[in-house]
Parts: sequence; C-alpha cells; structure tokens
Amino acid sequence: MHVHFDQKPGFLDDLLRLADRINLTACLLTPFANRQVVADAAKQHPRQIVPFGFIDLDAPDAVRQVEELRSLGFRGLGELEFVKKPYNDPSYFPVYELANRYGWPVLFHTGIVLRKNFDVPEDVASGRMRPIHLEEIARRFPKITVIGAHCGNPEYEWAAEIARWNPNVFFDLSGSTLTKMRGRLAEFQRIFWWSALDFSVKTPDNDPSAFVKLVFGSDSDLAGVESVSNQYRALFDACDVPARTRKMIMGGTLTKLLGLPE
Ligand SMILES: [Zn+2]
Repeated sequence: MHVHFDQKPGFLDDLLRLADRINLTACLLTPFANRQVVADAAKQHPRQIVPFGFIDLDAPDAVRQVEELRSLGFRGLGELEFVKKPYNDPSYFPVYELANRYGWPVLFHTGIVLRKNFDVPEDVASGRMRPIHLEEIARRFPKITVIGAHCGNPEYEWAAEIARWNPNVFFDLSGSTLTKMRGRLAEFQRIFWWSALDFSVKTPDNDPSAFVKLVFGSDSDLAGVESVSNQYRALFDACDVPARTRKMIMGGTLTKLLGLPE
C-alpha cells in the first residue's frame, strides 16, 4: 500500500525492477492526469502494479472521474487528502457510494499533513483528516475497505479503536511515526491491546492479533521502500507480533482483499 506515482522518466521501469527484486506488489496511487499510463502498465504487469486512483474529493466531477477510473481497470482510490471539508461531509457521499458499489479499498490520509506553501495562504487542515471521521464512512459504506494512512499520527489510539470495532478498517504506519517512536516501539502494544480477546469482530484469516489491523505502506520514494519495511520489522520485534500476523501485514491481507495470486 501507499506507493505514489512519480512523473519522473523511468519511474515505472524502476518500480518493476524493485518489485521483482524484493517481491513487491504496489498499490500505485495515481493522479487522475496519469491514469492512462498506469492503467496500461497495470494490465501488462498485474503482479507488480495494482492501480489506485487519486481524485480530488472537492472536484465538481469527482463521481465521473471515479467511473472513468473504474472503466480503465482501477482497483481502488487514494490517497485522498487535502480536503476542503471533513472526510465525513455528506457532499462526499456520492463518491463513497460508488466505491461501496465497486467494493473498493479507499486509502485516506489521516493526521498531521505537510505544508507545501509557507508564503501564500492555503486551505488545508489536519483536523479534516482525523481518523475519527473514517468510522462513519466505514459504517455507512460497509463494502468499502477503509485504509487510513499514517495511523492517524498522532491520534494512534483513536485509529486503533476504530479499527478494532470495524472489520473494514485498517491503517498503515507510513510517514514519520516509526522514526519518531523508534526508541519506544513497544508502546504500540498499549495501543493495539486486544490480542486474543474475543470481540466477535471478523479479522483477516481469523487472526487474533490486534496488529492484524495494520497493513504495510511505505509512502517513500522507491529507494526507501526497503528501509520502511525494516522499520516495520523492528516494530514487529518490539511488540512480539506473531509470524502469521507479520505475513498478513506485509501483504497477506491486501492479497486476499484484492484477489491477487498468492
Ligand atoms: Zn498521506
């Protein structure tokens, strides 16, 4: 999860090379403008590239864009971000209704967000992208798999609790969190606390570990993917994440969800 398409020449070749070297399948987050080249690449290389479409939720023709992405063979949406209203604003529901009908995964940015412009005003706020807003989307649209990027940084507790009660909610731990917490990764055991306790909420592969609510996401350039996967492994070690759960996080869950060959 969470490889952003890069327009620089040679990006797709580099991605394919990396995919073959480290056994990577990339959910490739693609700006609408680049949809055709990624759709073609995904058709040619379905094991390496799963096309996800980025659309601007505030665009007046957002619904039409989603329909077009679907007709090109796209498999999900994301990373949705920089919204003008909170994610659960009813004006966004037509897009969610469509994703729900398609049974798509949708990746939402959650938590603190970068600032692009320091000198001119911009209409961007992390508070519109809080993980708590994803709960309503997951409940109203149960066929969407809601994936929150960055685990709500720094609202990890809200993120985890919403994932606990909603079988269709997952989070990735890309971004600065695993760097920020590198000396205290065991704290995640306090946040993902419910392993082996029965809440009768369905989990992938009936895995009893609370950590099965995480999926691997890098949000790095291609050169950084391996180092993010090492950060995930450090988390697994610090929190005694079982081997079967690690496999689910490192691709098992999304493989099943997207119906990819194992
Ligand atoms: Zn993000």
